[in-house]
Amino acid sequence: MIEIKNVSKWYGSFQVLKDCSTHVSKGEVVVVCGPSGSGKSTLIKCVNGLEAIQQGEILVNTTKVNDPKTNLPKLRSHVGMVFQHFELFPHLSITDNLCLAQVEVLGRGKEEAREKGLALLDRVGLKAHADKFPGQLSGGQQQRVAIARALAMGPYCMLFDEPTSALDPEMINEVLDVMVELAQEGMTMMVVTHEMGFARKVANRVIFMDQGQIIEDTTKEEFFGSPRSERAQQFLSKIL
Ligand code: ADP
Ligand code: MG
Repeated sequence: MIEIKNVSKWYGSFQVLKDCSTHVSKGEVVVVCGPSGSGKSTLIKCVNGLEAIQQGEILVNTTKVNDPKTNLPKLRSHVGMVFQHFELFPHLSITDNLCLAQVEVLGRGKEEAREKGLALLDRVGLKAHADKFPGQLSGGQQQRVAIARALAMGPYCMLFDEPTSALDPEMINEVLDVMVELAQEGMTMMVVTHEMGFARKVANRVIFMDQGQIIEDTTKEEFFGSPRSERAQQFLSKIL
């Protein structure tokens, strides 16, 4: 579903990604971790073309992301992305947040978009909040709305960039629970997170990055059991 081949990227003269290669198969959950500044967010943004790459190739469901002929807005409508900050539209109701892109990007009728939105809101346990505004919900609730909004587009795969790291501790699990359910339903997911409980529960593979390189790309059993690199061992000893 996602193929990352020998990708390198520079910000000016600073090389942020160094010959990164990996893949995410259909239905797989791949967790990306590593120290701050190692290039995790950059890598994930390259997958839906929010950042350009200078070398290598990225394919999403056989569409070449780094091809000037690729329609990036169309591609992005099929790649759900959930960031650290929820980025809901503050002036729109929860329902309207869920409907906007369905109507504007997919051309769905308003009623169909609303039905789809409400069904997804129900799925993340927030149907009762449909007519509220984002500012009236907690951080964890807003993040669940953001996930529902991405799902409303019928994505091939979902990208998450530290979706729980801006949340108060008591709200982390309500978001992780939704993500675990998605994973168990077979959604293809690439998830930047340091929530190792989530990784242990649902990850098929764990990628460890350091200084722009993919240092480890292995099963969770091997990653947690016996990480090969010293850098991954040090990292794990700090966060576990
Ligand atoms: P991570 O998500 O692992 O913390 P990032 O991908 O955000 O890492 O950043 C990797 C490196 O690239 C960091 O050193 C960061 O300062 C740098 N960086 C990120 N975005 C930009 C940018 N737009 N311009 C220049 N440098 C950037
Ligand atoms: Mg980051």
